[in-house]
Amino acid sequence: MASVFIKSPLAILAENAGGGIVVREGRILECVAAGKRPAAAIDEIFDASRHVMLPGLVNTHHHFYQTLTRAHPAAINKDLFHWLRALYPVWQRLTPEAHRLATRLALVELMMSGVTTTSDHHYLFPAGLGDAMDVQVEEARALGIRLTVTRGSMNLSEKDGGLPPDSVVQDEDTILADCERVLGRYHQRGEGAMVQVALAPCSPFSVTRSLMCACGEMAEKHDCRLHTHLGETEDENAYCMANFGMRPLDYLEETGWLSHRTWLAHGIHFSDEEIARMGRHGLGVCHCPASNMVLASGQCRTRDLEAAGVAVGLGVDGSASSDSSNLIENVRHALMINRLTYEASISHLDALRWATKGSARCLGRDDIGEIALGKQADLAFYTLDELRFSGVGDPIAGLVLSGAHRADRVMIGGRWTVIDGMPVGIDVAALRAAHGAAAKTFL
Ligand code: ZN
Repeated sequence: MASVFIKSPLAILAENAGGGIVVREGRILECVAAGKRPAAAIDEIFDASRHVMLPGLVNTHHHFYQTLTRAHPAAINKDLFHWLRALYPVWQRLTPEAHRLATRLALVELMMSGVTTTSDHHYLFPAGLGDAMDVQVEEARALGIRLTVTRGSMNLSEKDGGLPPDSVVQDEDTILADCERVLGRYHQRGEGAMVQVALAPCSPFSVTRSLMCACGEMAEKHDCRLHTHLGETEDENAYCMANFGMRPLDYLEETGWLSHRTWLAHGIHFSDEEIARMGRHGLGVCHCPASNMVLASGQCRTRDLEAAGVAVGLGVDGSASSDSSNLIENVRHALMINRLTYEASISHLDALRWATKGSARCLGRDDIGEIALGKQADLAFYTLDELRFSGVGDPIAGLVLSGAHRADRVMIGGRWTVIDGMPVGIDVAALRAAHGAAAKTFL
C-alpha cells in the first residue's frame, strides 16, 4: 500500500504535525513537524495547504430513522415526553425500505460534516423490521464509514406502564436472541474495527428491569459496550421515583450498569454525588447540545463530568429532535451552550475534544479520535473559502466560531470517502429525492 504525505496543512489539530502527516496502510505512520520533511519514503503527496485538518469526528448518539420525521408538524414545539407521545404512532409506520434510506441519508450527512465514526441507537422494531441492524451494517460498509451499531430495544409499552405503544415493542426473549445474533455476526474487537456492536435498551421508561439486567450480563459475556438514554429530563427523574422508588442513576446501579462499558445519552440531571459516582465507575456521557436546546431538556454539566473522570463525547441525537445530522455544527452548539454554564473557561478546543477523543473514549476506542502516531488515518479536512470565514485569524477557532458545516474532504482508514465536499460513489440528488418521497408517508 502506498505512503501518502498529506503536506503543509493550513492548520492541524495535532501535536508536532505542522508539516503534515504520512499515512500508510490505513494508519498514521509519521507526524511531520513544521519545516521538516518526512523520514519515510513517499509514494504520493496530497497538498493540504487550503485545509484545516481535524481528527475525523466521532458521533456517539443518533437515531437514523428519525431523519424521516424532521420538523414534523405533530411534534414541533414540545418537551421530551409530549414530543415522544406525538411521534411514537408516526414512527410505528417505519418500513424496511424507509429504514434503509434513512440510514443511508444520515450516514452521508454525518460524513459530509466530517464524521468518520458514528453510532446509531435504533430501538424501534415494528413488524417486518427484524433485520434493522443488518441493513445499517450493509449501508455503513458500502460508504466505508465506521459504525457502532447499537441493538436498541423497548419492551415496556403503555399497557405495562411504559411510554411507547404496544405496536413498537418486542418481548424480552426476541430482543435478547437478536442481541446475541447481531453480536456474533458483526462485533469486531481491536484496532481498526469498522463495525462494533453495543447493547442499548432505550430508556428506563421504555424497558423492563429484567431486560436491563440481562443486557448488562450479555455485555460482560461478549465484551461490548452498553448504551441508553439517562438523565435527559426532570420528568424522567419523577418517572423513576414513582415507578422504581429511586433516581435514574440508582436504578442503573441496581441493574448492573455502573460500568466502564456504559455510555449514556444526554446525562444532564445528575447531582454532585451522582457525578462523582459515575466518574469512579468510568462511565461516559454523550452530550447532545442541539437536542437539549430544541427540547429544552437542560444543560449537561460537561466540565464537572470530565473533572470527575467521566468521558464526555458529542452527539447530534435523532434528527427529529435536533433536525440535522451535522456534528461540526454541534461542536459550535456545544461551545455556545456550555458558555452559558461555564463562561469563557470553555473553549473551542474543549468542544472539539468532546467530538473526537472524548467520543472515542465513550465508544471504548483508543485507535481513533486523534491525529497521532499509530492512530487510524481518520481525518476531516475543511477549507476557509466561504464568505463566513473571510477575516478569520485563528483557523481552528474560526472553524467553530464562524460555523463550519461541511468538510471538503474526509479520509477513513486511509481511504477518501468525501472529495470536494461530495461523498464518493453517492448520487446525492437521487438520495435526497428517494428519502424525501419516503418521508412524505410519515406526514
Ligand atoms: Zn436519543
